[in-house]
Amino acid sequence: MIPAATVPLHTAPLPAAPPPALPLQPVRWQQLWREAVRDPGELLAMLGLEALANRVSAEADAQFPLRVPRGFVARMRHGDARDPLLRQVLPLDEEMRAAPGFSLDAVGDGAARAGAGVLQKYRGRALLVTTGSCAVNCRYCFRRHFPYAEETAARDGWREAVQAIRADTGIDEVILSGGDPLSLATSRLAELTAALAGIGHLKRLRIHTRLPVVLPERVDAPLLQWLAELPWPVAVVIHANHANEFDASVDSALAGLRDAGARLLNQAVLLRGVNDSVEALADLGERGFAAGVLPYYLHQLDRVAGAAHFEVPDQQAKALHAALAARTSGYLLPRLVREVAGDPGKRPL
Ligand SMILES: *Cc1c(COP(=O)(O)O)cnc(C)c1O
Ligand code: SF4
Repeated sequence: MIPAATVPLHTAPLPAAPPPALPLQPVRWQQLWREAVRDPGELLAMLGLEALANRVSAEADAQFPLRVPRGFVARMRHGDARDPLLRQVLPLDEEMRAAPGFSLDAVGDGAARAGAGVLQKYRGRALLVTTGSCAVNCRYCFRRHFPYAEETAARDGWREAVQAIRADTGIDEVILSGGDPLSLATSRLAELTAALAGIGHLKRLRIHTRLPVVLPERVDAPLLQWLAELPWPVAVVIHANHANEFDASVDSALAGLRDAGARLLNQAVLLRGVNDSVEALADLGERGFAAGVLPYYLHQLDRVAGAAHFEVPDQQAKALHAALAARTSGYLLPRLVREVAGDPGKRPL
């Protein structure tokens, strides 16, 4: 900050070209967010995959639009129609095929969702739906049918959500989720944690986010400063599904988070054509560990309409998990789980 009062105005030389005030400069990550690729044709052209255009579904794209930051596209392999990162974001014809058992509300959130954007399914943990926004639209996501625009905890300046958490002394952990909580401006996050800081029964804060992976520029100095000053131990659960999602920019974002005191965990979804091999899962665990991240969960897909082509049958999932256990370090083995509505926690397979 410049202490303006110490410079007598009448003697101060006029600067030839005054630098623009900081708040007027677009924040870099927000700029990169706005510049995300949204046109399937453009994405395919960037990758030399124009021939794939006939498998793209305009209808699926209209339902849940393609959105992918350019830095993430840069990690896709040029000319590879089976690239595991591309498959996670490209709207394909398969999504429009009806599949029995795949529904709009696969995990029962419609019923569990309280008005304040607070979800409490499990003992001790309150999950805040902080926002409906994400920097990337993942084709397998339950969010494709729930934009959550009006139901977020941020809606009324966090008041109702904070009140609910304060009133329930059984809650010791607050989980920021969404959408992607780091898609909110750091100042909004700081508003929330300032309001939570006075609640004596809170012991931990957890953040579930894909942004350090898909838009690592989000992990900027103000975010790290906010994190470092939080009064609780913090876990950041990143969502990476494939080793290729990591690069130097992701490594440096993750190093920043660790330096700010966060414990890093990874949660992946088992996805056909993305990570449904022992090699892919072992590589993911090892690559994550190299970046300071321990595996946490490997989720069986939520059976959400449009995602059936990603499903790995339970038998195969269990066999993959057993084969992974036989070849990797114990601490690099994620827990294979599924979310079942009404259960007291994630259900092990
Ligand atoms: C998954 C989930 C949690 C976190 O469960 P953990 O097993 O502690 O990771 C908490 N609340 C809700 C509503 C969830 O869906
Ligand atoms: S909530 Fe997670 S999986 Fe769903 S679109 Fe956002 S980043 Fe992707």
